[in-house]
Amino acid sequence: MRLLISNDDGVESPGILLLAERLMRDGHDVTVVAPSRERSTVGHSLTLHKPLRVQEIKPHIFSVSGSPADCVHLAQNHLLKKTPPDLVISGVNRGANLGADIFYSGTVAAAREAYLAGYNALAVSLCIGFPEKQQDIHWGTAFDFVSEFLKTTAPKLQGHWFLNANAPNIEKSKGVKIANQGRRFYSSEVVENKDPRGRPYYWVGGGPSGYDQTPGTDCTEVAQGYVALTPLKVDTTDLELKAQLQKLSVL
Ligand code: MN
Repeated sequence: MRLLISNDDGVESPGILLLAERLMRDGHDVTVVAPSRERSTVGHSLTLHKPLRVQEIKPHIFSVSGSPADCVHLAQNHLLKKTPPDLVISGVNRGANLGADIFYSGTVAAAREAYLAGYNALAVSLCIGFPEKQQDIHWGTAFDFVSEFLKTTAPKLQGHWFLNANAPNIEKSKGVKIANQGRRFYSSEVVENKDPRGRPYYWVGGGPSGYDQTPGTDCTEVAQGYVALTPLKVDTTDLELKAQLQKLSVL
């Protein structure tokens, strides 16, 4: 397959470079277009008010001075315009994208940008904590999933699709489970401190603190040692609320 790979951890992160190597060894035609530096949690931002710089740092590996969504947009509409990809993969991300993480994630946004433009897209994340020593990171579990998915499932999937995969950080997963988007809880703690000039500053984003235990979700499947594969869509209309508003008919 002709593959475009991006991420939000930056073009030099092991999660993207080792994935690209693995998929090239599998015989795929791979192009990497990724941010020049880490852009985790930038969501679906686009750079509209300043220029983007592109550098081909190795053959077929492009570094872009923008967001993950910029990278995919630029690849599809310029760099790979004459040779469009069969599939866009974003990742492997260093850290989970479970539950509502998908709204903050640059990794998932890169895949969503591809999907919005009409491509099939797969976001892949490895569920590791921070900080984690290099030797404790089982990238291979996520790479094995992608490699197998491309052989067994992707060629058979009909229609236009957008998938979010989360692999457990263990030596070998128990397999793949098709999962619903779950619910992760985040720490609401705001850390207040003083800078060297005595002015207060604030640190937000205390990280995840548990998850809803409903079975069959991305959170619970990963916790049990499975790769959670969640089909996503872009239409977030709440149909129950829509019906309620229509019944009220006061607007
Ligand atoms: Mn990231």
